[in-house]
Amino acid sequence: MYNNVCLQSESAVERRIAVRQLTIKSNKSASWFVDIRKLFWLYELGDPEDLLESPTEKEHWKRTVNRTIDNIWLQQTLAESKTMKILQNLNMNMVKPRKPHPLLQQQAVSTYDANRQLLKLKFMCGKYILQSDRASFSKNKVDDTCRVCYKSPETLQHMVLECSGLSAVRDPILRDIESEIEKSFPCLWKSYTQDQKVTALIDCTVLYKKHKLSKVECRRLHKIDFQCRRLFFTLHTKRFKIFELSKGAASARPLNTISKSVCSGNSAGNLLITKKPDGCYNSVDPLG
Ligand SMILES: [Zn+2]
Repeated sequence: MYNNVCLQSESAVERRIAVRQLTIKSNKSASWFVDIRKLFWLYELGDPEDLLESPTEKEHWKRTVNRTIDNIWLQQTLAESKTMKILQNLNMNMVKPRKPHPLLQQQAVSTYDANRQLLKLKFMCGKYILQSDRASFSKNKVDDTCRVCYKSPETLQHMVLECSGLSAVRDPILRDIESEIEKSFPCLWKSYTQDQKVTALIDCTVLYKKHKLSKVECRRLHKIDFQCRRLFFTLHTKRFKIFELSKGAASARPLNTISKSVCSGNSAGNLLITKKPDGCYNSVDPLG
């Protein structure tokens, strides 16, 4: 809008007001033109007086403003993300202004899959709460031991790759993921550390070491991500079911027998694991 004022003839009322206000008003003034000056400085667009003297073509100015503002916010977001541990598994190279993350551009294959996407988003944003997080939030008043296997602290790596109580549902899907990754990235998965594997499962765009993906590359990643969504949803539902069982056991038995009961043999491994029509191995269907 300010550029429209600048494009007017020198005798136009709005342009004359702009010249006057920018000349005599201090930065403490509530004038709209003073606010415009502050925005120019905030987004490093120069001085509004310069635009007044040499206005640019409307579309060109619009592109310049959008590009400048996008760039500043992107740089600020990237800088802040480096200090945010919860975003450590999100590939910030793929964060682009005005565009959703490549993995969020794919459509869910079913209503069931839409639920998987929601859950996966929690892992991508670091919002999925594990026992180690509860312990950390409570300053270690809460025990961080995994409530599924009772063998190690429940960290992200433990839940996704190591927990013995979840291996029955994890292993078949992990094999599917490995085989899908092997098709496009031979030998890459085997070269990864456990941490890198967890990151790749949460945000598989890290498999490509680049900032921009072609449509073919996106389609490959969507196939891999479908399997990853299955993995996280299955682990989550299995874990949830085990918690429910442990709650049931807690209400029926003395506290000192719960741990033994939940850990013994099954870790809820005797739950029925079924293969869904869309290829999912989930044991619990949240939609019934
Ligand atoms: Zn465990």
